[in-house]
Amino acid sequence: MIPVTSFAGRKVALFGLGGSGKASASALLAGGADVVAFDDSPERVLEANHAGIPTADLHQIDWEKIAALVLSPGVPLTHPAPHWTAQLAHAAGVEVIGDIELFCRERRLQAPDAGFIAITGTNGKSTTTALIAHILKTAEMDVQLGGNIGTAILSLEPPRSGRTYVIECSSYQIDLAPTLDPSVGVWINLSEDHIDRHGTISNYAAVKERLVAGVPNSGTVVIGVDDEWCKAAADRIEAAGKQVVRISVRQPLDNGVYIDGEQIMEAAGGKAHGLALLSKINSLRGIHNAQNAACAAAAALAIGLDGRAIQRGLWSFPGLPHRMEEVGRKGNVLFVNDSKATNADSTAQALACFHDVFWILGGKPKTGGITSLTHFFPRIRKAYLIGEAAPQFATTLAGNVEHEIVGTLDRAVASAAADAEASGLGDAVVLLSPACASFDQYANFEVRGDTFRTLVKAIPDLQPPQTG
Ligand code: ADP
Repeated sequence: MIPVTSFAGRKVALFGLGGSGKASASALLAGGADVVAFDDSPERVLEANHAGIPTADLHQIDWEKIAALVLSPGVPLTHPAPHWTAQLAHAAGVEVIGDIELFCRERRLQAPDAGFIAITGTNGKSTTTALIAHILKTAEMDVQLGGNIGTAILSLEPPRSGRTYVIECSSYQIDLAPTLDPSVGVWINLSEDHIDRHGTISNYAAVKERLVAGVPNSGTVVIGVDDEWCKAAADRIEAAGKQVVRISVRQPLDNGVYIDGEQIMEAAGGKAHGLALLSKINSLRGIHNAQNAACAAAAALAIGLDGRAIQRGLWSFPGLPHRMEEVGRKGNVLFVNDSKATNADSTAQALACFHDVFWILGGKPKTGGITSLTHFFPRIRKAYLIGEAAPQFATTLAGNVEHEIVGTLDRAVASAAADAEASGLGDAVVLLSPACASFDQYANFEVRGDTFRTLVKAIPDLQPPQTG
């Protein structure tokens, strides 16, 4: 845990007692703050109380005596309307911050030279964050990985010289971190998402930009420039005097890191050389993962690693569960868990990687369904439809793709496995990439993916996937 000393002896209000909220409360208490915490859920309040966190209804406290309101990232700060605690804080002139901000302040106090790589983007955050941490660990660096992925930031080990933090930041977390100052800021991409929480795409982009705008001039900004928002931001940030490394998977760059076929290239002053190879790395299939890998390579370069160290890390990267995760192989059939693909855009990334697909999809459908995926239909040997979306998707597939409404994942796996095996196709893939949320049948995409994995692993004679 990182004791937060910046509020020692002062009173701090905290709202949101989920995992990161409880971690923040404990860290503030350990650093000597006087914490008063609350949540809309009485169970969570009770649970926090039992864990030794003082609680009170924040309607009832004297806000004049509060030094800061620490908000969980899931709680609306601005849109659709500021949460009532944020309104009370604003009315009393109290700052509203989150756990990443508390970490930044503590790092500046305890070990300002500790490395701090912060990663954001609409897509690819977790993969890029995990990959950077993996490359650094493979190079035997002292690494702490967390934030929006895995461990809450204040539950990590305390900052010290020689230690590097690799931190995934959601836009909500950035919004609550006014002095975010990573030594390396990575912004992978931007597309329309989370508009409900940020109002407009330009607000959303402005929040994301803060992660890289806060990088000190001695640090490095890594930005994917394949979308217009990030491209414009890269120019602005560079004009502000910062060192910017541009990333592209679409075109060669004179300066920056780009993808050429299966190679990551590093270019300076119009001269380029191969930095690392992506071929045969099953955990990083697809152009989207090439973007993630190029960002990770640029971040690793920025902290002084060389191409060999980067290549070693790429080769041994195990990938993340539920994102194009290879579960196993039986004869000619590969089984892939891409349960994290909760919309058609994400599923498109998966379908682009394979040619003979026995596709399991469905769940709670998103607007537009799978109509944007029609150009991938020639790759589908058969589709197995589950959940609420099944009738709607059957209509989209009708006349184009052989399909069956199977309803549930167990029936889908059994049918798809049998059909793929019988097909005799050399590279058949049974792919769970649902293009839907999971909530109609599962608690979340993780439970859906875990169920798929369990079903696949129960197939007799299944072999583990090949690695590397
Ligand atoms: P995030 O943490 O931003 O949600 P993940 O790394 O967990 O991102 O990937 C989630 C899904 O998003 C993946 O399954 C893939 O379909 C898609 N994805 C990953 N990286 C990218 C990228 N760079 N560009 C577009 N889509 C991506």
